[in-house]
Amino acid sequence: MLTPTATVPSYPPGHRVSVLLPVAVGAGYDYRAGDEGLSDGDVVTVPLGPRVVSGVVWGPGSSDLPVERLRTVLARHDCPPFSPEMRRFIDWVAAYTLGSPGAVLKMALSVPAALDPRAKGKALTFVPPDPHQIGPILSDDQQRAADALIAAQGNGFSVTLVDGVTGSGKTEVYFEAIAAALTKGHQVLVLLPEIALSVQGLDRFAARFGAAPAAWHSGLSDGKRRDTWRAVAKGEARVVVGARSALFLPFADLGLIVVDEEHDGAFKQEDGVHYHARDMAVVRAMLGEFPVILATATPSLETLANVQAGRYRRVHLPDRHAGAVMPEIAIVDLRRFPPKRGHWLSPPLILALTETLAVGEQAMLFLNRRGYAPLTLCRACGFRLQCPHCTAWLVEHRGSRPRLMCHHCGHVSPKPKACPGCGADDAFVSCGPGVERIAEEASALFPEARVEIMASDTVAGVGGAADFVQRVTAREVDVLIGTQIVAKGHHFPWLTLVGVIDADLGLEGGDLRAGERTHQLLAQVAGRAGRAERPGRVMLQTFQPDHPVIRALAANDRDGFIAEEAEQRRAAGMPPFGRLAAVIVSGANADRVDTLCRALARAAPDDPGLSVLGPAPAPMALLRGRHRRRFLVKAPRTVALQTALRDWLARVPADGAVRVQIDVDPYSFF
Ligand code: ADP
Ligand code: ZN
Repeated sequence: MLTPTATVPSYPPGHRVSVLLPVAVGAGYDYRAGDEGLSDGDVVTVPLGPRVVSGVVWGPGSSDLPVERLRTVLARHDCPPFSPEMRRFIDWVAAYTLGSPGAVLKMALSVPAALDPRAKGKALTFVPPDPHQIGPILSDDQQRAADALIAAQGNGFSVTLVDGVTGSGKTEVYFEAIAAALTKGHQVLVLLPEIALSVQGLDRFAARFGAAPAAWHSGLSDGKRRDTWRAVAKGEARVVVGARSALFLPFADLGLIVVDEEHDGAFKQEDGVHYHARDMAVVRAMLGEFPVILATATPSLETLANVQAGRYRRVHLPDRHAGAVMPEIAIVDLRRFPPKRGHWLSPPLILALTETLAVGEQAMLFLNRRGYAPLTLCRACGFRLQCPHCTAWLVEHRGSRPRLMCHHCGHVSPKPKACPGCGADDAFVSCGPGVERIAEEASALFPEARVEIMASDTVAGVGGAADFVQRVTAREVDVLIGTQIVAKGHHFPWLTLVGVIDADLGLEGGDLRAGERTHQLLAQVAGRAGRAERPGRVMLQTFQPDHPVIRALAANDRDGFIAEEAEQRRAAGMPPFGRLAAVIVSGANADRVDTLCRALARAAPDDPGLSVLGPAPAPMALLRGRHRRRFLVKAPRTVALQTALRDWLARVPADGAVRVQIDVDPYSFF
């Protein structure tokens, strides 16, 4: 049964409407409006083949079929309609990413159960945060920054970069902007990289505003997800703090987006619709005519280029709050100070650890590698244990559940007794370190110290991470060993030493952004040290002390590094000065993948402005059992890249057994 429409429907009963369905292919399908008529944005159920699916009325229908032959819309859901802004946003994202509008809608209609009021049980209630509660007294720099953010409100679309060193109070400053937006009656979205979604951050928000924000991330229960989606759509959830997917929530009246840690790679989604949540947040704000705030201590080259071009504004916080000093960053040249054979901590780092622990302070050892050892090989024949489904070595995990694991597909196997290569018994050696191995070494060196690992597989979910952070803050941990999960956002007043086990790790490989990313990550990690009264120090273990990234970190010369990096990119026509798109062709059958690649190569655009590289086997030539080839398309910013890509792919007949994925503005090149 249809529920009554409040206003006069724009499509009277029996009229033709286009309904966008959350399915991977196609745009809208035509249906006939039922007895009550329909309006654009209405969320409805329709028959699709033998199924009943939910979709959104997207506009007037356009097919040639006589209206009598169309199937009738079954019902309208009792939930707020999708706003014109939200519908334009979905179309925009689809056009930019070359995903189908249906695939984008699927991200917005991610919780079908939320479309109707709950039949039973008690729904979550969202207490509105109080914007009038007083925050801390801001420093002059902070106040200037906050004033600029507040002034931007009510003035339509704008983007402001809050560029401030770690611990400068960026969060306090954007809290002021949130308060202003709430006072104006708008909803607010704060996007965080998923791994940074800690309860520490949510608690801080609650302390500032007297009520918790609505959280949105992959760890929510079904019930919470449903209630949150609905509360956002109805405008009851005033502030959402979420991972990138929160961008597709159907806010009733969004008036401000904050993208914290805007440089973070976790904002890029790399399956389904390939989108960058920071960039799409800017689009959403542009369509909705409201401001966006990008906050970070290490801005991306993309964002800095926009600042330089005058498209984005910038406010600057050069100093840490309350006179806390930036940590001293020292280089440990591993060629001069090698660790003992089979060990990973150099003598200078061990000495620093000894000193730190002796005065009761905390240390963090950073290594961006889960598990015990990244490679297991046979001492007798050199055989390497590899994933059967991926171009990847199996990573050894010890702990309570010893096993070998593929970090790409999740394949798990026990460590074999005999070598599959030569049959030798018990001849395997573990090569290289993961965090477990560093923990083993630290415990052996400092048997009294409480050593603990924080990695995505050792702390379970948002709750587990919160618990861990709590214990570090309470000084129940002396040496904290972690992957990038520890790099973000946490504020540990007693942490005064950060040791980076392998500063060169991220520099390997030919990735366009390897240098930029390593600089950002290590600057973030370093920023964990000495955030309160006690000064911090950072030690970078490296074999390449003269590498520009390492030198820039040691000299605290971010801007010099970025200028140099930007110059190289500009000269090479690379992003952000030129544009890239990747076309990834994959399938279980290598021959069919290659056949399609040859057809694509023959049909490649011969636009002189556009260069198509490939096909080449992807660095991960096999992933989850699929053979993969890549094309890379490079173009100046003036070329209509999406049009060229769409036309190109349309010239080549599809093969149902081969997947072609397009990644506009790729961040991964595996
Ligand atoms: P960032 O986001 O730049 O890393 P934070 O906003 O987390 O910095 O601030 C670092 C620490 O300093 C936090 O504990 C924060 O509460 C505190 N802080 C920052 N500014 C102020 C202020 N004006 N008054 C009191 N405490 C502040
Ligand atoms: Zn695998």
